[in-house]
Amino acid sequence: MPIRVLSEEVASKIAAGEVVERPASVVKELVENSIDAGAREVKVEVRQGGRRLMRVMDDGTGIPAAEVGLAFARHATSKIASVEELSSIATLGFRGEALASVAAVSQLTIVTRTAEEDVGTLLRLEGGKVTQRQKKGCPQGTVVTVENLFYNVPARLKFLRSEVTERKHIDGLIHRYGMAYPHLRFSLVNDGRPAFQSLGSGKLYDVLIKVYGLETAQQMLEVRSLEADDPSTGSGHRLKPETQNLELVDVYGYISPPSLHRANRSYLTFFVNGRWVQDRMLSYAVSEAYHTLLPTGRYPIVVLRLELDPSQVDINVHPTKSEIRFLDSNAVFAAVQKAVRRTLVDQMPVPGMMGRPSQWSEAEIERRRKLVEVGTQTQLALEAQRTAGIEAPSVFEFPELAKLPPLRVLGQIAQTYIIAEGPEGLYLIDQHAAHERVLYERLMAERAKMAVTSQALLEPLTIELPFQTGVIGGESLEFLSQLGFDVEPFGGETVLVRAVPVMLAQGDIGEAIVEIVDGLTEDEVAEAGEEKALISLVCHSAVRAGKTLSLEEMRNLIRQLEQTAMPRTCPHGRPTMIHLSAAQLAREFGRR
Ligand code: ADP
Ligand code: MG
Repeated sequence: MPIRVLSEEVASKIAAGEVVERPASVVKELVENSIDAGAREVKVEVRQGGRRLMRVMDDGTGIPAAEVGLAFARHATSKIASVEELSSIATLGFRGEALASVAAVSQLTIVTRTAEEDVGTLLRLEGGKVTQRQKKGCPQGTVVTVENLFYNVPARLKFLRSEVTERKHIDGLIHRYGMAYPHLRFSLVNDGRPAFQSLGSGKLYDVLIKVYGLETAQQMLEVRSLEADDPSTGSGHRLKPETQNLELVDVYGYISPPSLHRANRSYLTFFVNGRWVQDRMLSYAVSEAYHTLLPTGRYPIVVLRLELDPSQVDINVHPTKSEIRFLDSNAVFAAVQKAVRRTLVDQMPVPGMMGRPSQWSEAEIERRRKLVEVGTQTQLALEAQRTAGIEAPSVFEFPELAKLPPLRVLGQIAQTYIIAEGPEGLYLIDQHAAHERVLYERLMAERAKMAVTSQALLEPLTIELPFQTGVIGGESLEFLSQLGFDVEPFGGETVLVRAVPVMLAQGDIGEAIVEIVDGLTEDEVAEAGEEKALISLVCHSAVRAGKTLSLEEMRNLIRQLEQTAMPRTCPHGRPTMIHLSAAQLAREFGRR
């Protein structure tokens, strides 16, 4: 076939396909337009998962009669006028594509009136062509009704998922906008039944209750990176002038405590300047902050709003605008990780042991601040390298850190658990998990100071790596040497080990090295691989379950555990101890 320019009809359907993937994409574009139009109330109505009908009503500015037709032309927008403005977009829309795209693949009716007009305008389009236009009395604002989506694109219609699936996408979308704009009232009606309603109180917490339920919301911890700021009265995505120069990124939101987790990542929600985004770096920053606090394969519930200068973000990456790029992604990563970590450390619920923040002394606050920094270990290690000579803070410099009460060791059960008594009752401590926690924090502190102690082996050890591990590269060797290993490739899949970290000297060196190298090479994210490797090292160094311990050894272990920053979980996120309070015991024995 010769090359020729596609007809307008075909071209517009192709372009529409980029923006309108499914019913939820239509709702997204219409809701964003309502928000951009300064609406205070946005009502969404959906029939048959959006296939039959989607209607979005707002009380925003409306569109003047003279411009209604133009709104449906491709690349027609009132939001930007020049290329320069692309770099500082403060509205959700700017491409001028949505209405044209939606209209091209549906039967669309818009009814709209501005405050200046006495009477509104009704415009109806089918497959992008205007079929009806008339004056119509209506309240100020805009109502867009989209019917029979993809009625003229059978290929697309075929690929729509079940009504239930499409409805879930729309539900999730409205939940997200509710959370991103707590000062707006959103409502959703599905097939005539109310499905969601936010109050517009301006408080994110109120929306959390609606989305996740009261019980979950009550457990969530509030995150805020700027103390003076009161985000609850914020104006959504429009940046408040006073936050602009304070810090690059303002992080605000709610996160679940380590005791509350879910099986998948879909509970991680991020908004950047009021825009919902899917971003691997942000998810990774959060999982780093929860590092070792959650069981593997579990994810927290997180709703975070990031505000930063619009010139720091490129949102013009993809037509759906859910992917973005940060100018300084390292800074954003650090800000998110720190804000989350600080919240976890500050508010970690340890029943009966910790006072509330208001009761903390200056020293306590300072100590916690340093703890947060220890949490950002990888970064810290780099910093220590850079400013060699300056000591990195260590959790071991803060002996008053004991978040556990003083415990008296009574004995050992099944050569695995230590029984201890404290003022709060009975404690059963998993000796392996507890020792892992101790060694992990010691290792982090030593690494930060570049002072991991190493022990030479009497005889070098040759170890065969499983062949799928592949050849171990320079970076991994470098990392291993930072940990106190002296390892060199010895042809094929074999390595020669001359020295190991002191803590591993009693452990199974061969197994440990295989697992550590596995961890290092398995993960595409270098830091994640390194963390896995660290945990393997600690796991193989820690005292095993099944080993008889003397009273003295147990006392030592408990003393060391008391001094860790997070004595309640091992680095895998499993609990180190079970606590039975005196009250619980009394209950069990029927004394009350
Ligand atoms: P964009 O949002 O990228 O500008 P759209 O195709 O979504 O492009 O909308 C085109 C224009 O129509 C917008 O720039 C805006 O001026 C106007 N418009 C669309 N929806 C609304 C609405 N709900 N209220 C007021 N104006 C609207
Ligand atoms: Mg738009």
